[in-house]
Amino acid sequence: MTGSPTFKLELGHMALLGLSFIGNQRGVAGGQTFKASNRLAGEPTEPEFCSATLSELDRACDLAMSAFKVFRKLPGSDRAEFLLEIVKRMEFAREEIVERYILETALPDARANNEFNRTIGQIKLFAQVAEEGSWVDARIETALPDRLPLPKPDMRSMWIPIGPIAVFGASNFPLAYSVMGGDSASALASGCPIVVKAHPAHPGVSELVANCVIEAAEATGMPEGVFSMLFDSGFEIGQALVKHPKIKGVGFTGSQRGGLALWKLAMAREEPIPVYAEMGSVNPTIILPGKLADAESMAKTMHASLTMGMGQFCTKPGLIFAVGESIAFTKHLGDLFESTGFGTMLTDGIAQAYNQGVKSRCNAKKAEITAGGTSNSATLFACDAATFAANPSLGEEVFGPSAIVVRCATLDEAASLIEELAGQLTGSIHGTPDDLTNAGAIFDALEQRVGRLLINQVPTGLEVCTSTVHGGPFPATTEPRSTSVGTMAINRWARPICYQNVPASLLPPSLIES
Ligand code: NAP
Repeated sequence: MTGSPTFKLELGHMALLGLSFIGNQRGVAGGQTFKASNRLAGEPTEPEFCSATLSELDRACDLAMSAFKVFRKLPGSDRAEFLLEIVKRMEFAREEIVERYILETALPDARANNEFNRTIGQIKLFAQVAEEGSWVDARIETALPDRLPLPKPDMRSMWIPIGPIAVFGASNFPLAYSVMGGDSASALASGCPIVVKAHPAHPGVSELVANCVIEAAEATGMPEGVFSMLFDSGFEIGQALVKHPKIKGVGFTGSQRGGLALWKLAMAREEPIPVYAEMGSVNPTIILPGKLADAESMAKTMHASLTMGMGQFCTKPGLIFAVGESIAFTKHLGDLFESTGFGTMLTDGIAQAYNQGVKSRCNAKKAEITAGGTSNSATLFACDAATFAANPSLGEEVFGPSAIVVRCATLDEAASLIEELAGQLTGSIHGTPDDLTNAGAIFDALEQRVGRLLINQVPTGLEVCTSTVHGGPFPATTEPRSTSVGTMAINRWARPICYQNVPASLLPPSLIES
């Protein structure tokens, strides 16, 4: 079914049209427009992107529901073929995608290529999951007609896809959590069509990737509507998408405010639908006395993780509980923060939110400013355990290169602070083997609050594999029983169904004994 990539436009000249993708057609020009930012130059860049209209949104959702009827019944191998065709086309367009990525984010070439590779790896992983097929958890219990006192009927169950999914791309991962990021790849692998709301921070990258998806869908004979992508720089289209009766689930990565707004809309629908919103976290890190003694090296490790990508990661370990003698560690970390250059942030909005977050914390005068503290500076705060306990806002996320060190005199003091924390994506403990033998209470407290628990490693740089859990209790996410990364992410887009006494002619192939 597949051929070599057949881009309609010669590689290197894939013109950006700035129009939404409504199934296999492009949206119309006109209406509200916006431009991407050339982040390094600090000025708008061509072309103009046209916000989708409500009637285009309606058509995208109708097409997605029509496509679902066919797509959900395709063998997993066909869906895998579609996903691998997307990979082929993205690889073909890599240079162009990376170039636009750098323009729209000001992130370096190495980061762009790493994220590209991760994205390709994730799509391939879900192609394998779709092809292999055991994710549906098929259970077959044949009838026992002679069972007493009552016969047992033939009962079979499996997971089936729920329907068209709305995907909200993230600002901080233009590839890995966007148009063909983990939400999209897992939804398509499960048999759910997707309607993507492109993030306005990187519309050009979104359009280039969407081109690859549409051309792959056509090349592999996927039903029209399996993929659509809508542009909008405001909230209207995103909100209408979540409310649309043909949308049956939502994937989101972004702010708590945005995630909760969309979750509330979904719950207020006549038919509420699941919203899997990943809304960030402060990722508590506990450094035990033996590791604090190695102050310089520990400070270097934490600094590298805290300032990687200008701290714009949901896994940034922004809350550090230092147990024991922490003066030298805090001093080293502060010095490293002072020498940290302040690069361009992903969007003006994120830069403003960062500066505002730092300013509010400085003005509140609850924590000491150990480094930075001015506009556009990497900023380190510190306080003692009692101050932290009395001021819950010190435990809130400041998205960007900032962190707070909380001095704890004892393990018990640290454990009692952890007990009060809200849900988190990750929690880390750094300790020597001796330290760790006494860390049971801290480990137990963290285990109840996080989706990923690490020992002597930093949470940034997430490994994508079968065991990955990138989730956690509220407010890290809106659904603690899920992950947005790793193969388990596919179950978000499916539900279990039991078939009782159904003849083989009507059963899905996965439930027929070979
Ligand atoms: P965001 O503001 O939550 O936006 C994410 C997406 O949701 C965008 O497409 C946005 O649309 C849409 N959206 C947000 N609020 C909405 C609403 N009330 N109704 C409808 N749609 C809505 O996140 P962001 O732009 O990526 O970054 C802003 C902040 O989010 C950052 O400062 C940071 O604190 C946090 N963040 C967290 C993570 C994480 O890993 N969880 C990742 C990135 C950012 P428009 O942009 O078109 O308005």
